[in-house]
Amino acid sequence: MSTLVWYREKDLRVTDHGPLAEAGLDALPVFVGPASGLLAPRLGDLARRLETLGSGLVHLEGDPLEELPRMALERGATAVLAHGFTEPAARALEARLAPALPCPLRLFPGETLTAGPRTGAGGMFKVFTAYHRAFQREAHLAEPLEAPERLASVPPGLPRWPAGDLLPDHLATFLENGLADYARARDRLDEDGTSRISADLHFGTVSAATCWAAASGRPGAEVWQRQLVWREFAHHLLREWPDLLEKPFVGGFQDFPWRQDGEAFRAWAEGRTGYPVVDAAALELLHTGHVHNRARMIAASFLAKHLLVDYRLGEAHYLAHLEDADLANNSMGWQWSAGCGCDAQPWFRVFNPVLQGEKFDPRGAYVRRWLPALAPLPDRIVHRPWEGGGAPGYPPPIVDHAWARARFLALAKAHLATGEPRSRR
Ligand SMILES: Cc1cc2nc3c(=O)[nH]c(=O)nc-3n(C[C@H](O)[C@H](O)[C@H](O)COP(=O)(O)OP(=O)(O)OC[C@H]3O[C@@H](n4cnc5c(N)ncnc54)[C@H](O)[C@@H]3O)c2cc1C
Repeated sequence: MSTLVWYREKDLRVTDHGPLAEAGLDALPVFVGPASGLLAPRLGDLARRLETLGSGLVHLEGDPLEELPRMALERGATAVLAHGFTEPAARALEARLAPALPCPLRLFPGETLTAGPRTGAGGMFKVFTAYHRAFQREAHLAEPLEAPERLASVPPGLPRWPAGDLLPDHLATFLENGLADYARARDRLDEDGTSRISADLHFGTVSAATCWAAASGRPGAEVWQRQLVWREFAHHLLREWPDLLEKPFVGGFQDFPWRQDGEAFRAWAEGRTGYPVVDAAALELLHTGHVHNRARMIAASFLAKHLLVDYRLGEAHYLAHLEDADLANNSMGWQWSAGCGCDAQPWFRVFNPVLQGEKFDPRGAYVRRWLPALAPLPDRIVHRPWEGGGAPGYPPPIVDHAWARARFLALAKAHLATGEPRSRR
C-alpha cells in the first residue's frame, strides 16, 4: 500500500472520488487536522463507509504540511492523491505541500462539474445567463465514478477516526419527494421545496456530478440543475478572482461609506428589525444553521441596503453560523444581494421585505414559525404588524422602508458617480 489518499474537508465520500478510485487497492486514506462541530459526524460517516470497503480513515492531528511528508516518507508512498479546491487558502496549501513531499502530489478535479466554460477571448464570463448557455453547450459531463469494490486494510498501529453513524441521504429524499415540484416550490418560504443538500455539497459527502447525474432525465431536473450551475459560477468566479473574499466585484463599491452601526447589525443578527421575514431568517439561522435561499437574499439585501451596514459583516456572520457555510457561494450571495457583485441584483433594486414576505410566505407560516409573537396576527398584516398596532413582544420597524430605500439610493448614486468605474474587472 503506497498511495496516500489525502481527504480534505470538502470531499468526504467514497463514491465519485477520483483520488480513491485511482489509488484503488493501493489507497491509504488519511485526514489531517482538527475535526469538531459539523465536520466530526461527516468524518464518522466517511470512516464507516471506508471500513465497509475494508479500509478505514487514518487521522493525524497537526499540520498537513508536516504530517503528510512525514507519513509519505514513513510509508514509502509513491504519490499523494487529493482533490484540488478553489478556495485561496486551499490552493496556497497545495502549492506549499507539493515541494515538501518526498513523492508527487497529484490533484484531481471533482469539486465542481467542470473546469468552467470560457468566453471566446478566453476570459471568465461576467454574466450568469451567458455562462449557463456556454455551460449547456460545451459541458461534457462524465458519469460519476463508482465507489471502489474493496480497499486494502489500514496497517495496524495507525491512529484512526472512529466509524460513526451513516448520515441521511438528502439527495435520494429530494429526488423522490421534491424534484418534480421544485420549480414551483423553490421560492416558497413556507414549504420545504428545496433539496437541503448544500451542506452535503459543501463537505463533499455527495459530489455535484452525482447530484447532476441522479437528477438527469427526471421531471423538474433542469430547473434544479441550473442551481448547480450557479454553484459552478460562484466557484469559477472565486478561482478567477480570489480577492472577491475581501473586495466587491464592482469597483464603484470600493470604499462605499457603510455605516459603523453595531446596534443595527446586532438587531439584524438577532432578529429584532421589526421586519418579519428579515427577523425570521435571522432566527432560522441561529436555530438551525440553515436559511432558505429567498430569505437569505431578502435578509442580506436588508442589512446592506436598508441598514447600510457593510455586507462583509453579514457575510462573516453567515460563515460563522451556516451549516453550508461556503466561501465561494456565500461571497457571491452576499455581493449579489448588496448589489456589488458579478451579475448581481442591480444596486438600484431594493427588495421590499413586506412585499417579498407576502409573495413568498402568503399565509405567514414561515414568519410565525420563528416569531411566535406574530402568531395571533391575521394573515393580512402578518408581514406588516405595525398596521395593526404591532404585536406584543415584537419590535416596531427599525427603519421605514421607503425612507431607507431613498437613503440608500441617494448614497449609492452619489458614491458611484464619484467612485471608480462601475466594473473594475
Ligand atoms: C446571502 C447569501 C448567502 C449564501 N451563502 C451560501 C453558503 O454559504 N453556502 C451555500 O452552499 N450556498 C449559499 N447561498 C446560496 C443558496 O442560498 C444555498 O445554496 C441554498 O439555499 C441551499 O439550499 P438547498 O440545498 O436546499 O438549495 P437548492 O435550491 O436545492 O439548490 C441545490 C444546490 O444548488 C446550489 N445553489 C443553489 N442556489 C445557489 C446560489 N444562489 N448560489 C450558489 N449555489 C447555489 C447549492 O449547492 C444548493 O445546495 C447563499 C445565498 C445568499 C443569497
